[in-house]
Amino acid sequence: MKKKSILSSLPSVDQLLNHEDIQKLIEEIPRTVVVNNTRSSLQSYRTEILNMKDDDLAKIYIDINKLIKNIVIESKKFMAMNLRQVINGTGVVLHTNLGRSLLSDEIKDQVWTVASSYSNLELDIATGKRGSRYSHVVDIIKHITGAEEALVVNNNAAAVMLVLSTMAKDREVVVSRGELVEIGGAFRVPDVMEQSGAKLVDVGTTNKTHLWDYEKAIGEDTSALLKVHTSNYKILGFTKEVALKDLVALGNKSGIPVIEDLGSGVLVDLQKYGLTYEPTVQESVASGVDIVTFSGDKLLGGPQAGIIVGKKKWIDEMKKNPLTRAFRIDKLTMVALEATLKLYLLDEEKMISSIPTLKMLTKSLDFLQDEAQKLYDILLTNNSNFQLEIKDDFSQVGGGSLPLAKLPTKVITVKPNSMSVSKLEEKLRTYTIPIITRIQDDQIVLDLRTLKEADYHIINEGLRDITTK
Ligand SMILES: *Cc1c(COP(=O)(O)O)cnc(C)c1O
Repeated sequence: MKKKSILSSLPSVDQLLNHEDIQKLIEEIPRTVVVNNTRSSLQSYRTEILNMKDDDLAKIYIDINKLIKNIVIESKKFMAMNLRQVINGTGVVLHTNLGRSLLSDEIKDQVWTVASSYSNLELDIATGKRGSRYSHVVDIIKHITGAEEALVVNNNAAAVMLVLSTMAKDREVVVSRGELVEIGGAFRVPDVMEQSGAKLVDVGTTNKTHLWDYEKAIGEDTSALLKVHTSNYKILGFTKEVALKDLVALGNKSGIPVIEDLGSGVLVDLQKYGLTYEPTVQESVASGVDIVTFSGDKLLGGPQAGIIVGKKKWIDEMKKNPLTRAFRIDKLTMVALEATLKLYLLDEEKMISSIPTLKMLTKSLDFLQDEAQKLYDILLTNNSNFQLEIKDDFSQVGGGSLPLAKLPTKVITVKPNSMSVSKLEEKLRTYTIPIITRIQDDQIVLDLRTLKEADYHIINEGLRDITTK
């Protein structure tokens, strides 16, 4: 009875909409959005009252201002972009949750021009006839990798699926047991193989696979030998895997094509910058493998894409597979990929500094130290509520690439004087521009490797706002 009378004393949607603050809100936010949020705010207030115990009900008074404030906040939240910039202080360069590779500033004009204009996406300008959307990147991929032919799809998982569906449907594919990996995001090599219609024949053991394991498994029904570059984990100790060139030799001898899922797809040897060895696409192609697949947004540093290179005979078959249409890439991806690949034609120093993924991976310790000092000085003058220190630490490549590569780096550790570390982590993460950090040894860690100079003042303001609000 009491509840009923409280509920009936709530304002109606119309009354709320006529409130002066809501009228003002409607001037900047579409009416339909405000109406919806008014209804839902009112409804949740109703539910709250219905769930109240009698004791609490006795104390209740209807706070219209709270209701109005809630409508304003929720309406503004609804209008704000969900997908937006965050600051990556984690030091994980290819952070899948944070969007993996960043595109280069140098390509923004090309990308936006194609995005906002008509383009020759599928028009051959010379003849006026229908062209191929893939033609824009095929020559440059061939030029860089040395491959005979190339094709691009939405991501590397799609590339593997298309390759197997074309070359191995209803037939057997031989793969090492040690390479039946899960890549993350529930991408499991055996599952993809099954979906493609290929029959998996796993050989060897978890830690050791010999050439004769493959040899023994080859039979009437074998359509391909598959090598998966286990780029996200390493088995150490008593191990044996068959080198690609030995597999290629076996394939040649038996007349069976060899496919390699390379995962990361690095196009430059990064060893001289202190990174552990990672096979390049060029090396795989040169080994004579029939087909290689790799990602566009891992070590290549471009947009999400799956790149397939190798023998023309197989890629021509793939183009006829209906999956190619289903996995077709968008013009935004195409222009970003072409423009990123063009950066690979610059001389090495310039190329590395213009591709953010490569730039971050190759930052020197001296450079990181200088940047740490810069950020430290900015933070110190404004933030007496924290204990700040510059420390040595390690960054990670991420994205399932170079799992053992621990890149020495410089970090700033932040310890709040009057708040828990986990509270500070949460407040940074939910700041206007979210600042993503990691907690280590009961401190917030900000890794300079994945920060840009433009981030420094945002972090500074973030820390200041957190303690003053
Ligand atoms: C990352 C990875 C994939 C999946 O690539 P996406 O571009 O994320 O689809 C497949 N195979 C290997 C070996 C990988 O490392």
